[in-house]
Amino acid sequence: MVELKLKRGKEESLDRFHPWVFSGALSHEVPDSVAEGDIVGVVASDGRFLGVGHYQIGSIAVRILDFGRTEIDGDFFRKRLEAAFGLRKALALANAENNAYRLVHGEGDFLPGLVVDIYGPTAVLQAHSVGMHYAREIIAEQLVGLDGLGVRNVYYKSETTLPFKARLDQHNGYLIGSAEDSVAMENGLKFNIDWLRGQKTGFFVDQRDNRSLLQRYSPGRRVLNMFCYTGGFSVYAMRGGASLVHSVDSSEKAVMLTDANVALNFPDDTRHKSFSEDAFKFLDNMDGGEYDLVVLDPPAFAKHRSALRNALRGYQRLNYKAMEKIAPGGILFTFSCSQAVSREQFRLAVFSAAAQSRRKVRILHQLTQPADHPVNIFHPEGEYLKGLVLYVE
Ligand code: SAH
Repeated sequence: MVELKLKRGKEESLDRFHPWVFSGALSHEVPDSVAEGDIVGVVASDGRFLGVGHYQIGSIAVRILDFGRTEIDGDFFRKRLEAAFGLRKALALANAENNAYRLVHGEGDFLPGLVVDIYGPTAVLQAHSVGMHYAREIIAEQLVGLDGLGVRNVYYKSETTLPFKARLDQHNGYLIGSAEDSVAMENGLKFNIDWLRGQKTGFFVDQRDNRSLLQRYSPGRRVLNMFCYTGGFSVYAMRGGASLVHSVDSSEKAVMLTDANVALNFPDDTRHKSFSEDAFKFLDNMDGGEYDLVVLDPPAFAKHRSALRNALRGYQRLNYKAMEKIAPGGILFTFSCSQAVSREQFRLAVFSAAAQSRRKVRILHQLTQPADHPVNIFHPEGEYLKGLVLYVE
């Protein structure tokens, strides 16, 4: 195993168990013998061994898998997956009412570069690093072998998550098993999960707890679910007793997914209507006071730090439009899933929107991602989902 040496002082973050080694921290060029995705060792300037990880070309040069001299093999992945499953068992997420949850959340499960979502008998695996791409088959085998997990099929979905320049020519497809029942259950509600064509792993399991909270606020309210995608919030609002639910997404396909999921749970229920429209346009065109409960769950406005300023402006504009139009005494659920936007920055953007709307706005809840998306305490960047529930007078 090739060992990469760090510049003096650059070992500090690794000594605090942060799992990323930035390329600028390396004291020398990476030898030609090291290929992208290889397992490398990392040593301090005095030669002290710091850890092993996956090498990648880019600003994060090494993602540390273990802070010791550990062999990265099937046994390593089995132990990490067992630990991840152990946590999910403690959360009691697999039960008669629920079989959709995240089993592996990258750094949050000490497996940087890997995401695994479970939908009943099917695991959807996403590699965000070249190293995890190469390890995909070993990981798939371990997933199927994991006692009590009940996974029979492993679908690999990394066409859009791997660095384009790596030229891996990766294809989405089943590594083990084949297509099976694609209806998953979340808190007793049914969802058709399209991991073949859907975004990310086909469903956003990270809003589970926040959807439950929304259900509590739904009785008798007129609900607008903006950026609805698969209609998660819409279905919970229906169950909660909303008087009407309108779902909006600019993607025609998303609107179809929403309609299908609503029909799956509430066939022939005339309270629901969906619109394939741009969110900003929809908010501009609607009358004031039409909705008492509004959800804003847009895609990440900032995928990178460079887009931060525009992203913050986008959040402000969007929230302003919603606050301007929501009925008096309205409840606004507003989110940001951009990792590059901090909790403070998001709050400031929403604060600016509130000031601009000149309405009295109070914070009722401060929301985050659920426990199956744990944040490694040494890797605070893993906290990406931020939400506020506001009361708008
Ligand atoms: N709230 C969803 C997840 C939203 S994902 C859930 O709980 O699962 C973001 C969605 O926003 C995508 O479906 C995407 O199609 C949609 N979208 C992106 N830009 C949009 C725009 N300008 N107007 C409306 N929808 C948009």
